[in-house]
Amino acid sequence: MKYIYEPAYKLVDLFHQEPDKIFDYIDAVFNRIKSVESKVKSYITLRSYDSVLKEAEEVVLRIKKGEHLPLAGILIAVKDNISTRGLRTTCASRILENYVPPYDATVIKMIKEAGGIVVGKTNMDEFAMGSTTENSAFFPTHNPWDLTRVPGGSSGGSAAAISAGETTLALGSDTGGSIRCPAAFTATVGLKPTYGLVSRYGLIAYASSLDQIGPMARNVHDVALLLSIIATHDSLDSTSIPRIQRCNFLMELLDTMKKRPRLKIALVRELWKGVEEDVGKVLHNVLDKLCSEHMCEEVSIPIVHYALPAYYVIAMAEASSNLARYDGVRYGLSTTKEGRNWIEVFSEVRSKGFGFEVKKRIALGAFILSAGYQEQYYIRALKVRRILKVEFDKLFTKFDVIALPTMPIKPPRLGEAITDPIKLYSMDIDTVLANMIGSPAVSVPAGFANALPVAVQFMGKPLSETTLLYAASLIEEITKLHDLKPPL
Ligand code: GLN
Repeated sequence: MKYIYEPAYKLVDLFHQEPDKIFDYIDAVFNRIKSVESKVKSYITLRSYDSVLKEAEEVVLRIKKGEHLPLAGILIAVKDNISTRGLRTTCASRILENYVPPYDATVIKMIKEAGGIVVGKTNMDEFAMGSTTENSAFFPTHNPWDLTRVPGGSSGGSAAAISAGETTLALGSDTGGSIRCPAAFTATVGLKPTYGLVSRYGLIAYASSLDQIGPMARNVHDVALLLSIIATHDSLDSTSIPRIQRCNFLMELLDTMKKRPRLKIALVRELWKGVEEDVGKVLHNVLDKLCSEHMCEEVSIPIVHYALPAYYVIAMAEASSNLARYDGVRYGLSTTKEGRNWIEVFSEVRSKGFGFEVKKRIALGAFILSAGYQEQYYIRALKVRRILKVEFDKLFTKFDVIALPTMPIKPPRLGEAITDPIKLYSMDIDTVLANMIGSPAVSVPAGFANALPVAVQFMGKPLSETTLLYAASLIEEITKLHDLKPPL
């Protein structure tokens, strides 16, 4: 097990002292994949050992020449909706089954420059629509803590891969919780950055006003490390926040931990409704300890009741417009076009290429945006979003962070949640809020209920990532739960 559950920030130091150890590390991770992947099924596409080794040789050479590489040789699993040049990117959909992007997403470019190595592309819910990874067109991923359960979603493959020791770091994307939900269910750490902090260039869009790429790891320091690499202004993404200089979140975190400022923490009453009893117990236990050193206060924001329905209206509306491009001409399955009109080809490609959940959302999204219904649904949802933003901006003038559950329930069994759509959508009740208001949010393990992972979430005002990472580190200090190894 040498190297497998070592934190990235420690490996990076080691690899600068002894660069050739990178090869032993890669061997160890590939052996681990060989022994557990058939049980967990994290990857849709795994790179060949030889091609990874070749890239590692270049990294070793760069280090030997004296370059300092913040991700020196570290393996990173990438969600399959992030474009990787020359490496198949399917979005877990039949419609993109054979799509090989001709370019790298900006985040991938940054990772390669920093000496990180992509190990493979991870499983997900098709087009990131779901919370269990069961909507993948290929196969479901299993939770390494209990193989009969889901790993959460939609970035379930990334979370399972980290948790199972099949990679050291991972990238996910989060539109309404897709980084935080699987992080919570696999006892790993995941952060959804402030909207615009990380470039979306090369991310295959689901709902563009909500989507963000973010880091996933087994401990808070590693999340800070990966965030430092990918958080960069990018002129190729028009929603990228103009930033004057890059931020080293790991250094900032270590600095804040030394100063240990006292946090003002809000607990929004409405966000604790519907939490399973044993999940609530674990969370209260941890937060009681946190609140003995920091200032905690319960507040009420009744409008949050509307966050979930408004989120689904906006997400589906945007999805229906974003997914219109898969027409079998520019993208998508190819089919015989001879002697057939465009509607016939378009319909065939889409009915064969998309799975049920995706079709459902495209249909509902088109309905939501149709004349006569737009005011009733879409415009109303936008109004809710605006009020939420105003209310939370106000709250953040008084508090540093909000503490809330990541998931109100324990990881469901495979096949259990998906049969009940309301149950499935309700799982996102505590995660969609951050996306609706563009805030950053982090999920960190809080403990176990019935041997299943439970996580706490912190949300803060835009660009408060360092404060959130600090709050998450305080939880790690209390629970001592980091770099966890499931009983696989
Ligand atoms: N479960 C939510 C949805 O299906 C969130 C997904 C995500 O964040 N990509 O829309």
